[in-house]
Amino acid sequence: MGSHTVKALFLDRDGIVNVDHGYVGRYEDFEYVDGIFSLITRFENAGYKIIIVTNQSGIARGLYSEDDFKALMSAVQQDFYQAGIGEVSVYFCPHHPEHGIGTYKKQCVCRKPNPGMLIQAAEDHSISLPLSIMIGDSWRDIQAGQEVNLSHCYYVSSKAPPPNAELENVTQVTSLNDIPVPSSV
Ligand SMILES: [Mg+2]
Ligand SMILES: [Zn+2]
Repeated sequence: MGSHTVKALFLDRDGIVNVDHGYVGRYEDFEYVDGIFSLITRFENAGYKIIIVTNQSGIARGLYSEDDFKALMSAVQQDFYQAGIGEVSVYFCPHHPEHGIGTYKKQCVCRKPNPGMLIQAAEDHSISLPLSIMIGDSWRDIQAGQEVNLSHCYYVSSKAPPPNAELENVTQVTSLNDIPVPSSV
C-alpha cells in the first residue's frame, strides 16, 4: 500500500448528493442536497478525489436497472462538469441479501456497512484509506468507513447514532455546509 497516496472523499449518494426520496432511479427525481456542489468543489480544490459509494437495492428489487442507474449518474456527472467539478467516480452495490431478484439476491461484500466498495476504489485509484474521509447520512456509511480506518467520518443526520455506536473519529452535523475541509496533511 506504500504507493497509495491519493486522498479520497467518499460520499454516500441518497441523502448526501441527492435528497433521499427512496429508490431514486430517474434524473427527474434527482434533487440535489443543499451545499453538495460547494462541498465537492472545496474538497476537490484541497486535492481530494471524489468518490460516490452507494447501496442501490432498487436495482436488486427490480425497480430500475443497472443501465438506468448508469444513465442517471452520467446525467449527474454532466451537472458536475457544468459546475466546474471534475470526474466523480461512482461505485454501487446492486445487491440485497433478502429482497434481491435472481442473482441480485446475495450476501455481498459491497453493501455498506461492508467496506467492499471503499477497498475496490482504493485499489483502482491508489487511494490511501487512512488519509480519506467518509460523509454519509446512515450509520452504516460510517461503519463502512470505520472498518477501513478512514481518517474521519461525518454523520449528516439529526438522528442520534445507534446505541453502542463507535464514535471515535466521527463528527455529527446536520448540514453539508458545516463540514470543514481538513487543513493539509
Ligand atoms: Mg444515504
Ligand atoms: Zn453488493
